Amino acid sequence: KPLTNMQTRDVEALLHPYTNAVMHREVGAHVIERGEGVYVYDDQGRRFIEGMAGLWCCGLGFGDRELIETAQAQLEKLPYYHLFGGRSHEPAIELAEKIKDLAPGMARVFYQSSGSEANETQIKLAWYYNNAMGRPEKKKIISRVKGYHGVSIVSASLTGLPYNHKSFDLPVDRIHHTATPHHWRGAEPGESEADFSARLAREFDEMIEAEGPDTVAAFIAEPVMGAGGVIAPPEGYFEAITPVLAKHDVLCIADEVICGFGRTGEWFGHQRLGMKPNAISMAKQLTGGYVPLSAVAIDAQMAEVIERHTGEVGIFGHGFTYGGHPLGCAVGSAAIDIYRRRDIPARVRALEPEFQRRLRSYADHPLVGEARGIGLLGALELTPGGTAMFDPVGKVGPYLAMRLLEHGVILRAIGDTLAFCPPMTISEDELDQLFAPIERCLDETLHW
Ligand code: PLP
Repeated sequence: KPLTNMQTRDVEALLHPYTNAVMHREVGAHVIERGEGVYVYDDQGRRFIEGMAGLWCCGLGFGDRELIETAQAQLEKLPYYHLFGGRSHEPAIELAEKIKDLAPGMARVFYQSSGSEANETQIKLAWYYNNAMGRPEKKKIISRVKGYHGVSIVSASLTGLPYNHKSFDLPVDRIHHTATPHHWRGAEPGESEADFSARLAREFDEMIEAEGPDTVAAFIAEPVMGAGGVIAPPEGYFEAITPVLAKHDVLCIADEVICGFGRTGEWFGHQRLGMKPNAISMAKQLTGGYVPLSAVAIDAQMAEVIERHTGEVGIFGHGFTYGGHPLGCAVGSAAIDIYRRRDIPARVRALEPEFQRRLRSYADHPLVGEARGIGLLGALELTPGGTAMFDPVGKVGPYLAMRLLEHGVILRAIGDTLAFCPPMTISEDELDQLFAPIERCLDETLHW
């Protein structure tokens, strides 16, 4: 059956006809005009509760005066300056100090504009590091099936989703994928979470052995997988992976682009999930999504090796015109002040039990295969029964998202999985509104 047409204007001919924006389109073309708090309004004046914080980024909601006024003041004072040739500016320095304070163990901060660029930078750092260590063969990177790390050539290669690889001849050489830590889908009958984690760590170890430990530079992972379907690792997963990394001297990179800045109830997801990174990528909520900015932080050991080598060879030949843009840094700095002042991680911890209880209350619905999540991240994976997949895949999820839209709720269908990532400032009353139409829309979708 055709989806109800929510189209308000013929934007299709004008915008993004061939991009992800259309491929992932849940609802027809839909023009959003403004935002306030947890709500956005379209060009017809209809109000929607934004259950995905945009694309996992507007953790402080829309219309935050402090972020807006900070941006205005920064544009007037210094709208652009770069971090090249020994030059810097106050917002970049201040933000780096704040990031270091929040991420214990991290020694240096590099800026970019997007999550993809942050991860691209991570891989160059890992390669440069191993060149500096005198082991130029140690260059392979292992990421995970269903991991999402971006769309530039290397970050898309790290991503473990078929549509980011197909037709692009990706992944590039030297990038490999290990299993998704999804217990519900991946465990053998009767296998406990801890046993499943131990098996995945064993398989990971065998993969490194098969590739040759002297050729493997780094492992990159999201503490909680986001765009792959909101998959939190099972009990003991990172605890089992960490010794394998140590055994083979493989760097650990945490992609905190979604999990960073309170989303899981800790400042960073790796702190909640027991991951021990040498380096961290951050973006999205770094500026509350208001201005594009990303950053990479590395630990003292990596920094020391990289800086010594740079002293020898003269330059670490990498950096972007807009990396560390003063507008992004000023807004990022203000966002961190707000996260701290309002103790957003504590707020997420306080909301988590009710948020997760509500999600799991749909677990018995005939359309829901698994209800899952952690912190203020969640998902309902729709199936025709058990872990079976719909045929064709990716039609039922968007239908549900479209029904919800008609009830004033924006959530994202990732294939047949409905993802939740509301602004972390959401009130209990607004959470009620977010969940209010779900049961009814699930029923409508069941009888579609
Ligand atoms: N890493 C993660 C975990 C992400 O979720 C994303 C985007 O969704 C990226 C990297 C890529 O970020 P960007 O779209 O800013 O390049």
